[in-house]
Amino acid sequence: MKKQKALIIIKPDAVQRGLSGTITKRFEQVGLTIIGLKFQKADSKTVIAHYPSTDVWFEKVGKRTLNNCAAKGVDPKIVFKTDDAVAIGKQVKSWLITYFQESPVLIMAVEGYECIEIIRKISGNTIPVLAAPGTIRGDFSHDSIDLANEAMRPLRNTIHASDTIEDGEKEVALWFTPDELFSYVRADEKIMFP
Ligand code: GDP
Repeated sequence: MKKQKALIIIKPDAVQRGLSGTITKRFEQVGLTIIGLKFQKADSKTVIAHYPSTDVWFEKVGKRTLNNCAAKGVDPKIVFKTDDAVAIGKQVKSWLITYFQESPVLIMAVEGYECIEIIRKISGNTIPVLAAPGTIRGDFSHDSIDLANEAMRPLRNTIHASDTIEDGEKEVALWFTPDELFSYVRADEKIMFP
């Protein structure tokens, strides 16, 4: 079995709330290897490249918002001036570009077996109220999707975590140069994977 790589970004809301160390610890303590780590201001070009400019991604994000509006009886045309999922997804992406540049972010590349599933499990649902207790978003974010949409800003849900094996590879290569990444074996691997 091959190890997978993933990108974690501790977003500006968590950095400004002093949660960088606490959140980093969760990924370290589960056994993943930190292979890259840096603290910097994100530039808009990298954030634009990071979130896919594909109709598939826009639609995923837009549909989530439309479902949420439907469940709450909110008219998306009032908040978003449209009920088209792709157009809504595009709006969320433009908010993310501004949000990511609010403060420095902590960018981390991690590696491990089934790394993607592990980081998504630890991160919890995108929408904090749906994130289980014990997950990072469940424990450290209490933002509301309705408030976020009304204020025309992204959900402040503390972290980004790659959500497919392909995205993990792509995102690590986008945010890190090869000489910023390290290859080493954690001491506990001898016990865990004899
Ligand atoms: P993730 O992989 O769990 O971060 O979720 P996505 O890739 O679908 O969305 C990227 C980020 O956009 C999320 O982490 C949120 O910060 C934000 N976001 C996603 N969907 C919505 C939405 O419907 N409304 C708002 N306001 N923000 C959203």
